[in-house]
Amino acid sequence: MDSDAYSTEFGFELRTCEWVEREWPPGSGGNDRKGDGESENEIENTATLVARQLGTERRRWDTIVLECDPDALGERARFGPTRLDSDLRHVVRNAPAEWTYYREALPHPGYPWRYVREAIHRADDRAILETRKDGNRIQIRRKWPYPDWCERIVAIENKPDLDRSAARRLRPQLEFDVALGLADEVWVATRRTGDRVEPILLEDLPVEAGVLAFDPDDLSAEVAWHPRSLAIGEPGTRILERPGGNTHDGSAARFEYVDPEWKRERRLGIAERAYERGWRSFVETMRPDCRHFLLRERDGQLLPYCGAKGYQPTARECSGDCPDYVPEPPAWRTKGWPIEGGPGKRSQQLLSDRRRRQRPGLEPSSE
Ligand code: SF4
Repeated sequence: MDSDAYSTEFGFELRTCEWVEREWPPGSGGNDRKGDGESENEIENTATLVARQLGTERRRWDTIVLECDPDALGERARFGPTRLDSDLRHVVRNAPAEWTYYREALPHPGYPWRYVREAIHRADDRAILETRKDGNRIQIRRKWPYPDWCERIVAIENKPDLDRSAARRLRPQLEFDVALGLADEVWVATRRTGDRVEPILLEDLPVEAGVLAFDPDDLSAEVAWHPRSLAIGEPGTRILERPGGNTHDGSAARFEYVDPEWKRERRLGIAERAYERGWRSFVETMRPDCRHFLLRERDGQLLPYCGAKGYQPTARECSGDCPDYVPEPPAWRTKGWPIEGGPGKRSQQLLSDRRRRQRPGLEPSSE
């Protein structure tokens, strides 16, 4: 694979995700977090899940790292590979151990009960909740307690080449993250230069953000700056608008407070989506059904490659607009088609199998 592939944010990001999955936390052979009173044993007892391009309506992170309790992560698998949305979470987290009329068992959701009934039916269809009728009344009983599986959320921005203008754009994003305190930590991953002082450290970025000097060619990284833990359990500030920055702009920044409960729910929503998608879902936004689409292995990682262009395409290039797109010939889809599909389907299956390996407890057929 041409290392130029890693100069795009997309190529760099895929390598970051692979590295995180193998090596997180940075310097875990070393002592990154011991300063926070965390023992080596606790670090070893953490399972890592990686996803990409997730966040909230206002802010999407490049790479998301979930640090999980391994046993609780295994218990989460009982609820299946698909995410639990907020309505389903409301039901399964509050479902009682004994049969109870659902309106007596669940706290009022703040919206009409008919939506709760709809969520109960969906949970029943997914076999993650028990239901029965008592006359006209629906009773529910939990199958398993919903585990507290995600311990920490870490957000990483990927900036292979952080020039001045990229740093200027990055700064408000990091300030937004720090003020809100939705993730436990925020980092910037940038290409390692080998200079005595990494150039990114000379930029005016928030000191709370960690800096990872990453080499996507040999999958190695060094911590250039350690992050500070953000106050996820305290109210946060959401920056809605900021002054334009020129000296004549006398307008004030607009912001609003968010309470810890809002953050807790958002974090869980992000964790559930990350559980479902992982980072190998990149193939779902590309064209694996194109005859030129290939997965090539680099250091054990499967990366997209375009046979027509002769390089790793970005997700934007490898889309329905690509002028070189040619559908894979039906003859490739022999034996079992359309159930098994052609090479494109096999690419998706390969990536899906690898994603499942990171989620202990899921059945092989569950994706
Ligand atoms: S030709 Fe276009 S659509 Fe086909 S694999 Fe290459 S980039 Fe993707």
